Amino acid sequence: MGERRVVYLDHAATTAVHPQVIEAMLPYYGERYGNASSVHSLGREARQAVDNARATVAEILNCSPREIIFTSCGTESDNLAIRGVCWMRRRQGDHAITSSVEHHAVSHTCEQMERQFGFEVTYLPVDEYGRVDPADVERAIADTTILISIIYANNEVGTVEPIAEIGEIARRRGIPFHTDAVQAAGALSLDVQELNVDLLTLSGHKFYGPKGVGVLYVREGTELLCSQTGGGHEWGLRSGTENVAGIVGLATALKLAEERREKESRRLTALRDRLVEGVLSSIDHCWLLGHPSQRLPNNANIAFEYVEGEGILLALDMEGIAASSGSACSTGSSDASHVALAMGVKPEVARGAIRMTLGHENTEEDVDRVLEVFPGIVQRLRAMSPLYEA
Ligand code: PLP
Repeated sequence: MGERRVVYLDHAATTAVHPQVIEAMLPYYGERYGNASSVHSLGREARQAVDNARATVAEILNCSPREIIFTSCGTESDNLAIRGVCWMRRRQGDHAITSSVEHHAVSHTCEQMERQFGFEVTYLPVDEYGRVDPADVERAIADTTILISIIYANNEVGTVEPIAEIGEIARRRGIPFHTDAVQAAGALSLDVQELNVDLLTLSGHKFYGPKGVGVLYVREGTELLCSQTGGGHEWGLRSGTENVAGIVGLATALKLAEERREKESRRLTALRDRLVEGVLSSIDHCWLLGHPSQRLPNNANIAFEYVEGEGILLALDMEGIAASSGSACSTGSSDASHVALAMGVKPEVARGAIRMTLGHENTEEDVDRVLEVFPGIVQRLRAMSPLYEA
């Protein structure tokens, strides 16, 4: 008997590298190993590959290749955007605006700028669905505001923020606007002109590309202090020998994701709705977290009362189902998610949240398998809870 395939429902944490992406990358680990800065033929071949990848990414973002910076990951891109703008514009002011539902790559960077370096940061509230109100952004702007950073699509609850509207306000007030689009790639438009953004973060491993490579889009004219000095790579904004294979992989994966975006989003939305409706109709005392319609097609985040998310996770794992409790980046800590708390979810309910994020390889059978085992798991765990009365 063959081993049962794992039903992987953790695509917000990471994805498998697409076979076509591996194929595109392999030569740059082998015979095309040149350093993109070398003048000889091997170097020129590597440079050409990086240039082509930059052009591919730029076309999808509807910007100039000159505005694309390759980095080592989404976290680095977020750090570079925030620190880079804050330090460069220090003389104009010391106030940044962000939301209370950011990924830690943004929120912890803002907190450090505040605590260690004396900047002032406003953390905007969100509504019960995790949405920032653009009017709150407008109200928070002061004469000293030098940066606004708001996540595009939330990594925990999947809520999509009104980025174009916020961008319009930022543009009118002359303030650089960054968005973390790590979870949006492959699901939402990345057109930086439509989004009205000046800086945008991407990470290869969230859209079937390799880990350890990211992008920061920087609109021409946006002043940014580089965080890594050295050989002057990436227009002097991010020194370090280019990860040629990774960059080729990221661009190939982004192109594939963009080509499939609409069709795959429709398919995943149907699967997600089947999953959510199935769980909500078969289990009592549980709720969908995040916005009912303004959410990522693949994200189902459900909070269960009278049970810990960790317990459900372990039980699902024993059934060969891989999910996550809130955000993968905070596993290991049993603290309630800051995103759920910001949405006004009670801590004891937030601790019972499970994030299931669908992807390419998931089918209706996968969803039905989850629906088959889920009610029993929750029932067994609740039977152990002194607070639960069926
Ligand atoms: N931003 C968001 C919204 C994310 O979901 C993640 C990863 O989980 C990151 C940033 C960090 O990206 P990376 O893993 O490439 O550092």
